[in-house]
Amino acid sequence: MDDIVVIGAGQAGASLVAKLRALGHMGKITLIGEEPAPPYQRPPLSKAYLLGKMELERLYLRPESYYAENNVTLLTNTTVQSIDRSDKVVIAGGRAIPYDQLALTTGSVPRQLPPAAGGLLRGVHVVRALRDVDEMAPDFTEGRRILIIGGGYIGLEAAAVAAQRGMQVTLVEMADRILKRVAAPETSDYFRALHQSHGVTIKEGVGVERLTGEGALDGAILSDGTELAVDTVVVGIGISPATALAEAAGLEIENGIKTDAMGRTSDPAIWAAGDCASLPFRGDQIRLESVQNAIDQAEAVAANMLGAETPYDPKPWFWSDQYDVKLQIAGLNMGYDGTVTRGDGPAMSVWYYAGDTLRAVDAMNAPRDYMLGKRLIEAGISPARDVVADPSANLKALLRG
Ligand SMILES: Cc1cc2nc3c(=O)[nH]c(=O)nc-3n(C[C@H](O)[C@H](O)[C@H](O)COP(=O)(O)OP(=O)(O)OC[C@H]3O[C@@H](n4cnc5c(N)ncnc54)[C@H](O)[C@@H]3O)c2cc1C
Repeated sequence: MDDIVVIGAGQAGASLVAKLRALGHMGKITLIGEEPAPPYQRPPLSKAYLLGKMELERLYLRPESYYAENNVTLLTNTTVQSIDRSDKVVIAGGRAIPYDQLALTTGSVPRQLPPAAGGLLRGVHVVRALRDVDEMAPDFTEGRRILIIGGGYIGLEAAAVAAQRGMQVTLVEMADRILKRVAAPETSDYFRALHQSHGVTIKEGVGVERLTGEGALDGAILSDGTELAVDTVVVGIGISPATALAEAAGLEIENGIKTDAMGRTSDPAIWAAGDCASLPFRGDQIRLESVQNAIDQAEAVAANMLGAETPYDPKPWFWSDQYDVKLQIAGLNMGYDGTVTRGDGPAMSVWYYAGDTLRAVDAMNAPRDYMLGKRLIEAGISPARDVVADPSANLKALLRG
């Protein structure tokens, strides 16, 4: 029985070790994580947890006792410094931990503002780890002025929490519209209007020149020359895959740690899953930054580590909560050339097409559209655009036919 070591005790790492045991692996399993907490879910960090509506223990993916009960050695507060591929050991805290097979589930690191732009001032936060949110939560109080840098999902979720906390919220997005990287203009329009209706000032096509202050933050100079007085900043400008360890070990990197369809890296004894891993998809090496991918890919890798040789077929879905709106996304909109909207009220959906092929659906408070879209995409059925645009059309019938 192989000894298996997993580096990175987050969403993917926890799913991987649980699946190994569920599949009956009897060998030694060591899960190593640099954070003090056992593996936990990140999505609530920018939602219910930051809003103070979720207890710490509910973040944990499994009770702390799960790991010992399932004979998984969980090493928290332990950073892996290097991997010695010829001796098949990982070096962590001065110890050499041997492996027969190794999985990398190291996640990603948030991009920061450079120190010269004020990135190190007190009061400037990123949202990635529990520690980040525990640090920023006391700043989220009524009347304070917050600047959110970046109009992606993390920035928008932080803006929603801040507005609900009674803060004065300004959000700047360097691109000409929020959510530009991930969604169609119709989805951007929906969320812009939603935030504005909650008093958030959104400035698109505007970046941050630099933050100001002596030690502690006191303001921001924007790229359009505006000077803002600011008490708190949240930086939500994207993430980079955590590849440093893999790169230093000489593994192939291409938009993340490069894996084949099985999740195997360029070293046959080393696997990768979750945010840090890139996988072949429609001719590209893509990365999927989502919980669903972290779980599904990690479970596929667990099976393949035990010899299944089954390619991972991603079935992407993603969600975001802002105020009383639940956004659910099915599929991947990459390469779309047109969209159709269904409904035009607070409940609506945006359907993405590449030619005649339905690729993805953004559903805002429209769980039915989300479910139908997901099932249609998975079944490879692409309804005609005019049918989707007609909210009275019965899309479910297409699934039966
Ligand atoms: C605030 C926030 C909100 C989000 N909201 C959503 C959402 O609504 N829906 C959705 O689908 N996804 C969401 N995501 C994304 C989702 O959480 C990630 O895609 C998911 O956590 C990826 O899992 P992972 O295991 O790859 O990485 P992680 O969960 O980040 O785990 C990686 C772990 O590896 C550890 N590590 C790295 N290097 C080392 C080392 N050398 N030694 C030891 N340990 C190491 C890291 O400290 C970390 O704990 C959100 C993410 C954030 C931050």
